[in-house]
Amino acid sequence: MANLIDGKRISQEIKDELKEKTAGLKRQGIEGCLAVIQVGADPASTVYVRNKKRACEYIGIESRSFELPEETTQEQLLELIQNLNTDELVNGILVQLPVPDQIDENKIIQAIAPQKDVDGFHPQNVGALTSGLPGFVSCTPAGVIQLLKRSGISIAGKNCVVVGRSNIVGKPMALLMLREHATVTIAHSRTQNLKEVCRQADILIVAVGKPKLIDASYVKEGAVVIDVGIHRNEDQKLCGDVDFDSVSAHAGAITPVPGGVGPMTIAMLMYNCVQAMTR
Ligand code: NAD
Repeated sequence: MANLIDGKRISQEIKDELKEKTAGLKRQGIEGCLAVIQVGADPASTVYVRNKKRACEYIGIESRSFELPEETTQEQLLELIQNLNTDELVNGILVQLPVPDQIDENKIIQAIAPQKDVDGFHPQNVGALTSGLPGFVSCTPAGVIQLLKRSGISIAGKNCVVVGRSNIVGKPMALLMLREHATVTIAHSRTQNLKEVCRQADILIVAVGKPKLIDASYVKEGAVVIDVGIHRNEDQKLCGDVDFDSVSAHAGAITPVPGGVGPMTIAMLMYNCVQAMTR
C-alpha cells in the first residue's frame, strides 16, 4: 500500500510558518493586503474566493474583496486593476478565473502589475520561471514541489512525467521539476502510447481534468503519484484524475483527493502574498 502524501498537514505547516513571518513583518511596520476580484457568482469560484480570504485572515494579512456583477465590461475590470496596480497599500492582486465571456482572460492577466501578480500567471513571471530568474510561480505546481520536498521525496535525477500542458498547471509544473533537476517528459492529449510513457515515471504528476483516467496499468511499481485533478463523481464525492483505489495498491506514494494537492494551492498563494510584502 502506498504512503499517503498529506497535503492537509503540509499546507497547515506552511500557513503556520507564514503566520509567524507576517507577525515579524508587522513588527517592522510592513502590512500585507491582497485584492481579490470575482466577476459574477459562479458557485465554485465563490467557494475558492471564500477560502482564499479565510487563509489571508489566518496568516494575518488583509484581504480586500471586489465582487463585480456578471455583466461587468472588460474596460471596467481593467480600470479597477489599474487602480489597484498603483494603490501602495495593495501588494497582491488576484482575479478569480474563469471570467465571463465578454472579458478576455489574457488581457486581464497581462494588465496586473507583475510585482503584484501573486497567481504567477503574467507572462513576465512565466518568463522568469523559464529563465531561472526570481518571480512569482503558479501556486498549484509550486505546491506540488513543496509536497514532494516536505515528504522527503528526492527529485534530482528522477524520471518525471507530467500529464497535461495547461499554462496554469502542466507547463509550469514541468519547468519546476526541471529546475529541481528531474528528467522531464510532458504528455498531453495528442501523446501516443500514454500508458507506456507514464510507466517510465519515477514521479508521475497528473493534471488532465478527466476523472480517474490513470489506473494502476499506467503506473510503475513503487512510483510517486501526484493527482492534481478535482472532480465530483455521481454521488457528489470528490475524486481526482487518478483512480486512487487501483493506484494506491501499486504506487510507492500518492496524494489523496481531497487532502492532497488542493489545500497546497491556497498555502502557496499565501506564500506568494508574503513574498509580495517583502519586495
Ligand atoms: P486544462 O483543461 O487546462 O488542461 C488539461 C490538459 O490535459 C491539457 O493540456 C490536455 O492536453 C491534457 N489532456 C486532456 N485529456 C487528455 C488525455 N486523455 N490524455 C492525456 N492528456 C490529456 O486543465 P488544468 O487547468 O491544467 O487542470 C487539470 C485538472 O487539475 C482539473 O481537474 C482541474 O480541476 C485541476 N486543478 C486543480 C487545482 C488544485 O488546486 N488542486 C488547480 C488547478 C487545476
